[in-house]
Amino acid sequence: MIIDAHVHILPQRRLDGLSIWLGRVFSEHPLAGKSFTDDKIVGELSRNGVTQIFNYVFPMRADESRELNQFNYHLAKKFPFVIPFGSFHVENEDKKIILDQCVNDFGFIGFKLHPYVQGFSPDDERLLPAYERIEQLGKPINIHTGFEDYYPKIEKRITLSIIEGLIRRFSSLTFIIPHMFYPTLEEGLYLLDNYENVYVDTTNIFTAICQDEEKGLTRDKEREILLKTLSKWSRRMFFGTDHPAGMSDLERIFKDFYLLQMANAVRQDLLFKTAYEFAKQYGYLRGIEPQMGGH
Ligand SMILES: [Zn+2]
Repeated sequence: MIIDAHVHILPQRRLDGLSIWLGRVFSEHPLAGKSFTDDKIVGELSRNGVTQIFNYVFPMRADESRELNQFNYHLAKKFPFVIPFGSFHVENEDKKIILDQCVNDFGFIGFKLHPYVQGFSPDDERLLPAYERIEQLGKPINIHTGFEDYYPKIEKRITLSIIEGLIRRFSSLTFIIPHMFYPTLEEGLYLLDNYENVYVDTTNIFTAICQDEEKGLTRDKEREILLKTLSKWSRRMFFGTDHPAGMSDLERIFKDFYLLQMANAVRQDLLFKTAYEFAKQYGYLRGIEPQMGGH
């Protein structure tokens, strides 16, 4: 069993936009020019052994928040395979209503922000009441970090100090840090070492290291930090594919993941156990329990 802890099944309009963007910016990408539907994405993941996914949506504009959350709610009804996260925009005036609806009416497991794509900084003052509410609701939040090269238009980098500031300020809020600030993975390790309420998501790191090395960059230090982090903190580490917005097709992403030598128990934590325990802890069991055969 595999829980892919980072997938983006989006409304058809946004999936089509993603295909066009990929073809334009990364014409060599194996998924460039391919079209996607929810059924196709679920089918491809299933064929690669995935039994459950964390599905992340994020609105580009304030008036898209409700539509996307509704979408993820209906998607999770259509596919028990989907563990849905809600989202919101810095310009939403009624963040509290949106957050409460996501948890109380839609049963979402947590929330996601992708500030680079959404066009704001995660420490924007207008977000602080939302973090406070999510903390009260007892749900986790995932905030994108790293891979700045892919977002050339960003105005403000999401730095370790910005994220650490939020972690300190909202000390009982659980944070998921995707991509561990790649390539500065030591920043992700630092947060794991110092804050119990931090999880990291290794999505894209394995393939990024392999692809960077193919380009002639030296990634020995990054490999070393990744291995060290895995041996210490795999119980707070997820693995995801970012499909269909990942660094390659699923075959290559899984191949790069399996290429890195790690203890079997560590691999199991990343592929399943951490995400399973996490889903249980945050009250999202639907779709998972039946497959556990009564455990
Ligand atoms: Zn992503």
